[in-house]
Amino acid sequence: MVPFTVTVLGNGSAVPTSFQKPSSQLITYGSKRFMVDCGEGTQMQMITYKTGHRHIDHIFISHLHGDHFFGLIGFLNTLHLYGRKQPLHIYAVKELEKVIELQLEVSNSKLSYPLLFHFLGAGFRETLYEDKNIEVFHFPLNHRITTYGFIFREKQGERKLNKSFVERFHPSIEQMHAVKSGHDFITKAGETIANKEITIDPAPPRSYAYCSDTAYFEEAIPFIKNVNLLYHEATFDNSQQLLAKEKFHSTASQAAMIAVKANAGKLLLGHYSARFKERKHLLEEAREIFPDTNLSVEGESYEV
Ligand SMILES: [Zn+2]
Repeated sequence: MVPFTVTVLGNGSAVPTSFQKPSSQLITYGSKRFMVDCGEGTQMQMITYKTGHRHIDHIFISHLHGDHFFGLIGFLNTLHLYGRKQPLHIYAVKELEKVIELQLEVSNSKLSYPLLFHFLGAGFRETLYEDKNIEVFHFPLNHRITTYGFIFREKQGERKLNKSFVERFHPSIEQMHAVKSGHDFITKAGETIANKEITIDPAPPRSYAYCSDTAYFEEAIPFIKNVNLLYHEATFDNSQQLLAKEKFHSTASQAAMIAVKANAGKLLLGHYSARFKERKHLLEEAREIFPDTNLSVEGESYEV
């Protein structure tokens, strides 16, 4: 199976602390890597955790609160210093382009590579990014400013050939491709063999959803239904439900409720408030509702 992982670079919320950094993640699928959010210090975290900067051609920014994009200009500039040539795609609300352009303009900087912006709007069923293995969509969240979540979804793989079929009929490469894509097989004697007799089902496609920042928001559920791994913000605990509502953030229990209703495989918590150096209680509160919950840890990678 192709490796499909999420590396958490920052899982803190807006106020800086010594023990957590603002939001950023790297999603790895095979040799491809995608960045989601780029809070202040993201490139320093990449250095600390030795992730390297190669193969990142697509950056998705959920919203324009500083703890989700203040690291971007620094990272873009570093790529320039490395002499990057290939285009870099950024997916965000349209205001981000103005911000970046102004930052480059006042510092009299011209990047060594093209920066291509893709503006996020209401086209939630359209793919933002797609290749032969994976596609990326966005969906609405409920925060103080326009905010989007992202879903990374593997495409359905080809059918797998039965070993005995290959041994018995010695199909050509072309015939194997045809059978893998679902066609029946015709033997030299002209006999048709049904596809289901000579193939097995491919592994079910895997998917990952990123939900940060948001108040408790059931409207996101149809978009993230049945994901294998859900990252959901858990800024607050059960004693702070009112605060969570007021600030358009979620509690750990609310994240767990979303995981239950979305039928997620696993839940990963993050975007912790700076007041929780110790997050065990967040984990306990969430696990009471959704047992397969874990606390995200900076520098760790999680299988989708
Ligand atoms: Zn925010």
